[in-house]
Amino acid sequence: MMRVSDTVPYGNGINMKNTAKQVAAPDRSRLDLPVCVYLIEHPRGLVLVDTGWCREISPEGEYEPGAVRKVLPAYLAVLYHPWLPKGMAVHEQLGAMGIRPEDLECILLTHLDPDHVSGLRHLKGAKRIVVAEDEYFWSCRTVYKARQPWNLWIDQPIERVFYRGSPLGPNHWAIDLFGDESVEMVNVPGHTDGQAAIIVRSGAKFVLLAADAAFSPRNWQENITPGVGFAEKWQRRSLQWIAEMADEPGCAAVLCSHDPEIEPQTIEF
Ligand SMILES: [Zn+2]
Repeated sequence: MMRVSDTVPYGNGINMKNTAKQVAAPDRSRLDLPVCVYLIEHPRGLVLVDTGWCREISPEGEYEPGAVRKVLPAYLAVLYHPWLPKGMAVHEQLGAMGIRPEDLECILLTHLDPDHVSGLRHLKGAKRIVVAEDEYFWSCRTVYKARQPWNLWIDQPIERVFYRGSPLGPNHWAIDLFGDESVEMVNVPGHTDGQAAIIVRSGAKFVLLAADAAFSPRNWQENITPGVGFAEKWQRRSLQWIAEMADEPGCAAVLCSHDPEIEPQTIEF
């Protein structure tokens, strides 16, 4: 979970005013948003998408500023105001299903922000950890260095894969994980340069995991861009593409990583 300024999901612009609000917003004006991970039961093995918060950020399952500060720098600690209810850390949830990290065929990281990667420490033994090279490459840029503390992922055995030309996505870049179009990482820039949305396809049906390109359907339905990101122009193009995908007849669901309305669920198709 995280308690953030409403300008994070619905700021409709990346600017100093929104950034200032994100750090300074008082508790009472903030929104509680989930931090989602997804498990794909694929014929080739189990594929996990993102890893959520690590247990160390919230040892007792409550918001604990001192514990948060051991994981995140001060400005990110106040921006995110994170906590992780007991039993909800990624390894705890997998364990409850009888799944060990070494049972994971692949962990896909949509991008390298801490709410998506800090749980990696609990998943040692997974066969592959994959991130798009564009995401990894640009993490050296000052703006991302401030957002994406390297110590949360730099020592992990991350495999970097290149986007290729594709009919999918706002800039026609995608990675076909198994070479059969069943799981594809589609570049949706704007929140970060290299961010990937994930398409899971079976027959004519697909689910789109939008990562942080949208925080909820409100973003694409009302054309409101999130107030945290790198390029508003690309945020709008990515939202436009998500809107088009959501309208396709085969679309079983579009799920956003931080949708306040989302509930834990299983989608079968
Ligand atoms: Zn996020």
